[in-house]
Parts: sequence; C-alpha cells; structure tokens
Amino acid sequence: MALHRFHLGEPTLAMARRQLLAIAQELHTRGWVANHDGNVTLRLPGEHLLATPTAMSKRALTENDLIVLDARDRVLQGGRRPFSEIKLHRAIYAVRPDVRAVVHTHAPNATALAVAGVAIEPKMLAEAVVSLGAEIPLLPYRFPQSAEQIAQLQEAARIHDALTLGNHGVLAWGDDLEQAYLRAELLEHLAAIQLRAMQIGRVTTLPAPDLVRLLDARKKAGLGPEARSKG
Ligand SMILES: [Zn+2]
Repeated sequence: MALHRFHLGEPTLAMARRQLLAIAQELHTRGWVANHDGNVTLRLPGEHLLATPTAMSKRALTENDLIVLDARDRVLQGGRRPFSEIKLHRAIYAVRPDVRAVVHTHAPNATALAVAGVAIEPKMLAEAVVSLGAEIPLLPYRFPQSAEQIAQLQEAARIHDALTLGNHGVLAWGDDLEQAYLRAELLEHLAAIQLRAMQIGRVTTLPAPDLVRLLDARKKAGLGPEARSKG
C-alpha cells in the first residue's frame, strides 16, 4: 500500500479516515442528508483528496468505503467512485489554499430557506457574526456543477466560509474537518431559528454599531478574508 505516494504518514491518514467517517455518518444521524445525498472531503498533500464515495448512504459507510483521489480525481485507493459534486469541492479548494476540508449537506431548514429564496441571516445573533461574518450568501440556482455555478461559487468562496445553494443545500469549509462540520451545523441551526422567528413575526437584527464591533472581534479571532490577507 503506497501511502507515501501522497506524502502523508499512515498514522495521520488513518486518523483522518476515522474523523472523516465519523463526520459523514453524523450528517445522516443529524438528518441533514437522505438517500445518497451529502459529501465530505479532506485535502491531502499534492491536491489529493480523502472523500466519501458516490452512491452510498452516509449511514452505511465504513472506513473501507472512503476513497483517495489524485489531483485529477482518479481513484488511488478504495473500490468506490467519486461523487459528481466533487467539482464544487475542487472549486473551493482552487481559490482557498487555506481550506483543508469541505462539507456538503441538504439539511432541511437551510435547504428550505434556499428553496424559498431566503438567505440565512447571521446578523440575528452576535456569535454567528463572529463565526461567519455579516453575510451568508444564497447563490441563485444554477444547473448542478455547471460552469456558471462553479464561477459563482468561487467568487463567494474567496470571501465567505459557508453558504447555501439555491434549490439545493449547504456548503461549508474550513481549516479542518471539525471546523467545516461546525460551520455546516451552525448554518442549519441558524436556519431553524430564522424559520421559527419568521413564523412568529419578523427576523430582527443587531444594531449597526454592534455589528462593527463584532466584525472587529471576528478579525481579531483570525477569521474572515481580512485576517487571512494578513497571513
Ligand atoms: Zn447536493
């Protein structure tokens, strides 16, 4: 087993497999995917990816079902095939050298808002502004994996760390699998809160001066494009 081909030691890759599997199964447990929906990738050295396979429920995945892909998405390890939405993951990795992991779900509250044409509003809650900034984009529907969709995703991914895709679902990414997962979780949680607030009355947002302070705290925490550009 030529693990050295992708320059990651066997113990490290074994740990990554366990973590990626746990997160993929969690997507099913949380009710964020159905059927074969959803996918998770981890960037390995040399633009290789550790990924969930296509055509399998996240409930039924085992470590042996995970696949290692080379930079052209050819399968180096594992007997299964890559999912077509890998192009969305690649689009994010291409414009964000800092990103190590991407999580995609069809979580119902976030997806309901995306189907209704409503963006998730992080300015409802202070913690959300610090974690994800003042905006979580809702990208207008484009044909899945089309050049138009890739272009709009890359434009947003340069600035943001999570978003919803119109008539589709959630994409979140981060420094590692845990951060990408937590961002996907936060989007679904915010969407659930927002939907309930919409049922009760209207969604209110924090005062503008407070947003300035929160965005400053976000920058100081090393989050967001301004913090990244400072290295
Ligand atoms: Zn999808």
